[in-house]
Amino acid sequence: MARVEFAYSLEINDIVDAMEANELWIEGILNDKRAFECIDENCEAKITCKNMDTFAYDRKVIPHFIMANRENMHSASCELYKEYVKKESIRGKSKNERKTYNIGRNVCFHMERPENHRIIKHTFSGEGSKNEQDIKRKMKRTSERRKNRNSNYYWLNSLIGYYIASYKEGTIHQNTVDIDFGKNKKYNYTLNKLFKRIKKEIETTDADKRHYVYYGKGKVFSRKDGGYDLVFYEQFLDSDKKVKCVISKNLIENCQYGRINKINILETAKGKERFIYVLSSKNISETYEKIYLNVNNLDCIAISEIDLDAIDEIIKE
Ligand SMILES: [Zn+2]
Repeated sequence: MARVEFAYSLEINDIVDAMEANELWIEGILNDKRAFECIDENCEAKITCKNMDTFAYDRKVIPHFIMANRENMHSASCELYKEYVKKESIRGKSKNERKTYNIGRNVCFHMERPENHRIIKHTFSGEGSKNEQDIKRKMKRTSERRKNRNSNYYWLNSLIGYYIASYKEGTIHQNTVDIDFGKNKKYNYTLNKLFKRIKKEIETTDADKRHYVYYGKGKVFSRKDGGYDLVFYEQFLDSDKKVKCVISKNLIENCQYGRINKINILETAKGKERFIYVLSSKNISETYEKIYLNVNNLDCIAISEIDLDAIDEIIKE
């Protein structure tokens, strides 16, 4: 069965991708990984979000949608199913042909959350089941109009899922991200430009004040003030300065969404070698002989076990 990219969440009555669903689970908004169905308005095929209820540190496979069971397939009139069949027929063809078919995806990462963020507008409370069906159809119809809809992420962990999936597919040059800083400041990057592996980048560039996703091997340590130090084990190419990200107690206290889960992720990673990702600017301190990666908030940090160098090896083989 072809990949299901988006599903309709029966819990929030909106269309989400699997990483969004995971983010919403972490933040306590989604609870049931089985409460999804096909996004087509004429189809009620049940969908499960596999690994929706897992943390990045204890899974090998990122969250994704699967059909709930073999019997409950798409309806005959489901447009999505027809599209899948078409895509499947291209699958057998050469890699290049498939690449042309893949026109690239775009997701939006928000550095700020709107004021009424995560307040669910479409509740069914007290309404009859006929009405539920109507709302569902209407929601699906409006959502379908945004067929090439953007996924909206607020936590770097979701973006890492997208990056790793694109890395495996070989589409980091086509797939893009809008980084939305709020106040109409939005910048678009291809994934290969946004993500910077520390050991492959030079220390000083003209763009150090800009935000990028820096990543590399490192460890998490506790700070005396109740915060954390993220210490990288790799250095910039031409540099012998230590690379570090400080998470102050303040930064933790300012986290409003899923704070406990997000702290748990840091706690669990403590002392273990992990891949640490930070969406940050770069601050070079000659005095301390250190490079500080400064993050705005806890949402700009992600930790993963997945080693992209290992993926490179597989691709080369
Ligand atoms: Zn369907």
